[in-house]
Amino acid sequence: MRQIAIYGKGGIGKSTTTQNLAVALAERGRKLLLIGCDPKADSTRLILGGRVKDTVLDVMRAKDEEDIILEDLVNIGFKGIRAVESGGPEPGVGCAGRGIVTAISLLESLGGYEEKTDYVFYDVLGDVVCGGFAMPIREGKAEEIYIVCSGEMMSLYAANNICKGIQRYALSGKTKLGGLICNSRLVDNELDLVKEFAKRINTQLLYFIPRDNIVQHAECKRKTVLEFAPETQQADEYRTLAEKIEKNQNFSIPDPLSWDELEMLMEKYVNG
Ligand code: ADP
Ligand code: MG
Repeated sequence: MRQIAIYGKGGIGKSTTTQNLAVALAERGRKLLLIGCDPKADSTRLILGGRVKDTVLDVMRAKDEEDIILEDLVNIGFKGIRAVESGGPEPGVGCAGRGIVTAISLLESLGGYEEKTDYVFYDVLGDVVCGGFAMPIREGKAEEIYIVCSGEMMSLYAANNICKGIQRYALSGKTKLGGLICNSRLVDNELDLVKEFAKRINTQLLYFIPRDNIVQHAECKRKTVLEFAPETQQADEYRTLAEKIEKNQNFSIPDPLSWDELEMLMEKYVNG
């Protein structure tokens, strides 16, 4: 079982990419479990054809813990992909990071990590803003990490920050960075910029996903591109990404840049 955490700035395309990737892996015969670790609870919407009714934390608020069964937490979606949303506290109340820890522990104690599972994906909110969001790596759950980014400054800034978090935990555990996934925002020289950024922080650009409006069309129908438009070029992009993930052998401990180094890198590639 490979356990993989997907990090990246909010809105960069973590959930879209993870779900399309999951379907592409399911097409290759893999068994998957997706765990949404974002209080928005929209990480599994395209797989399930709509947002989950109850997140793990919702179930825990509604029921006594001893009455909760695995079926309360796990939803079955497209191609048999199992999907869980950890959920979060009411806005402004409590700590979302801690909620993720609680939710995953309960899922685990109820046998949610079935033996036949090939891949577990954790779709984790934005930056590693507090220890709770580092949970999948801190607790040694996810041994592989991929960061979704683009050539936009703030996305690279977030990726760099996430690397600081990974570096902290990788030294004591077995978590490694498997690479960056660039989800294009059509920035100047984006491919070369992200390639160099990857190299400078001691990782690789695993794949470059083009920007395509078909993603929005599919999203409006609550579907992944692979389900909505399986014959399209964009669907094939996610299939190639799946192949890259399956074959990846390049894992490292990242070495983040300073703010000044990041600014200089941006200046080199992004010009008016
Ligand atoms: P995150 O999970 O990182 O917060 P989402 O996956 O929800 O981000 O993506 C944010 C928005 O970007 C979505 O509305 C989605 O339609 C759009 N998007 C993601 N990837 C692409 C792409 N390759 N091409 C076009 N739009 C995309
Ligand atoms: Mg998301």
